[in-house]
Amino acid sequence: MPASETLTLAFATFLVAGLAMKFWLATRQIRHVAGHRDAVPAMFQQTVSLAAHQKAAGYTIVKTRFGLLELAFGAAVLLGWTLLGGLDALNLSLRGWLGAGLIQQLALVAGFALISGAVELPFTLYQTFVIEERFGFNKMSLKLWTIDLAKSMVLGAAIGLPIAALILWLMGAAGSFWWLWAWGVWMGFNLLLLLVYPTFIAPLFNKFKPLEDESIKARVTALMKRCGFAAKGLFVMDGSKRSAHANAYFTGFGAAKRVVFYDTLLAKLSPGEVDAVLAHELGHFKHKHILKRIAGLFALSLAGFALLGWLSHQAWFYFGLGVRPNLNGPNDALALLLFLLAVPVFTFFISPLMALLSRKHEFEADAYAVQQTSGQDLSTALLKLYEDNAATLTPDPVYVKFYYSHPPATERLARMAAA
Ligand SMILES: [Zn+2]
Repeated sequence: MPASETLTLAFATFLVAGLAMKFWLATRQIRHVAGHRDAVPAMFQQTVSLAAHQKAAGYTIVKTRFGLLELAFGAAVLLGWTLLGGLDALNLSLRGWLGAGLIQQLALVAGFALISGAVELPFTLYQTFVIEERFGFNKMSLKLWTIDLAKSMVLGAAIGLPIAALILWLMGAAGSFWWLWAWGVWMGFNLLLLLVYPTFIAPLFNKFKPLEDESIKARVTALMKRCGFAAKGLFVMDGSKRSAHANAYFTGFGAAKRVVFYDTLLAKLSPGEVDAVLAHELGHFKHKHILKRIAGLFALSLAGFALLGWLSHQAWFYFGLGVRPNLNGPNDALALLLFLLAVPVFTFFISPLMALLSRKHEFEADAYAVQQTSGQDLSTALLKLYEDNAATLTPDPVYVKFYYSHPPATERLARMAAA
């Protein structure tokens, strides 16, 4: 069998197997949550009401069901781009119009991004204005949503086009080790983004005000000092502008680190609970989880760029995925897009490993928080957050293994109680 046919067969097989697996997992999750809908689990009978438990079940089921629809649609779109010739047609028509060269390459990337974004829009709209709305989470008006979209597009073009142009140029001009250069540029770009995100990008979408509540401020400052942690500032973000979901996070690097609390979080938690949630986040820092994640990202992208460097010179890579390469000119944008489309099809089956690592980190951060603050506060804070986000307390165990970056509440609270 020619290499291109082998690739087509492997791609189709992985796509179908992945789809079947995802459908099986989702139906398991729906059945499991529905089956446990009528009773609050024994360990939460004192703390969670039946109404809250049932709301979480309803929300989880509706979202998972909608996920099935997105899954089927996403697979159809992926096939449309690849084996059914969508990317090929876009590429040829742009080449006919712009000729072969960097401009055409860039137009292909931009055209692909625009079409993909447009195709996903109805799903985002439905998710926000039907599902989130129905469960009382959406706080966005259609106007705000549209403004957000416009801002993201301008921002995406302003940031995305130059970096895409630079990488495409390197692919064509930097010789056979272009992928090493491109990797360096990509990593530098990611670090720069981490650096400018909190101060330049996030404020385009939300307002950040210094934390004013003196009692929380005093507690949080004392906690950070106790943990040997310096941050440039404590901020409150108007998360309630868009959603009722609550959160807290760290951003930035070194001394420029800042702590951001959603106003929705401060409204729901007691000062002790805020402390405990922050201590959990500090735990991620103490255990160097962020650093490990960035190092992992560096290593994976290096492997990815090296693979792309090799694949982009193999004619079977293009033909096998439904695209006719230009035999007398550059195919860099094609290679890049095909690679981005095909890789997730093959890597889905290692997602349980990634999820496992992430859940391990969450347990470690919880353990740190229990050492530094009150385990009781962390437990009640987590329960409040699970309840506020309508996260189910009874997920399907196999579904958890594949998708959950955070362990289910039962496991987290059981570990905390044991500690
Ligand atoms: Zn965490």
